[in-house]
Amino acid sequence: MAKTEILIIEDEEDIRELVRYNLERENFTVSEAESGEAGLKAVARKKPDLILLDLMLPGKDGLQICRELKQNAEVRDIPVVMMTAKGEESDIVTGLELGAEDYIVKPFSPKVMVARIKAVLRRKTGAEAPVETDVLTIQGIVIHPGRHEVMVGGKPVDLTATEFGILHFLARRPGWVFTRYQIVDAVHGADYPVTERSVDVQIVGLRKKLKKAGDNIETVRGIGYRFKDME
Ligand code: CA
Repeated sequence: MAKTEILIIEDEEDIRELVRYNLERENFTVSEAESGEAGLKAVARKKPDLILLDLMLPGKDGLQICRELKQNAEVRDIPVVMMTAKGEESDIVTGLELGAEDYIVKPFSPKVMVARIKAVLRRKTGAEAPVETDVLTIQGIVIHPGRHEVMVGGKPVDLTATEFGILHFLARRPGWVFTRYQIVDAVHGADYPVTERSVDVQIVGLRKKLKKAGDNIETVRGIGYRFKDME
């Protein structure tokens, strides 16, 4: 089997070396690009399995590169993991909305980086998100999209259409962080227009009704929400 190839786009040599060292130890093939422009060329040439993209780059910045990658039908399916500095939540939000799959915040531990990369690759090659009409059972929560019904521990939970929509959306992709905008976009058309701010209110209500099972809906500070990943 061909080795999994990871392209790192980062202008700082130290970080490229750190990433290369740790990924090669895990038996990945690593290639490097020192700028966004070089990265775009490398992506087109190599079609790597995953792109590790720094957001702070000279010339075209990481968000611009992410935008170009996700607008290009030939490469848009290659998962992008952003690398960001602390305090760049708004960039992370923008990147996720542009289609990046995940992010890691610098300074990161190599272990965390490797785990994130493996998780993204697993999601990509593993089961795709269930079809919208499939009954979904996750962490003891049973979601019946057809009936708009949710059961926890065998007991029905009375949710509004919007709460149901948000729960179903998050639970279909455990481990993925979604921004408020992405959640609004996904569940629009429910019982009333959802705004980004009202997502927070809906989540509070949802957690309350789900009781203990509501702990599965995690807040990712400054970014949005996710359904807890199953380990
Ligand atoms: Ca950089």
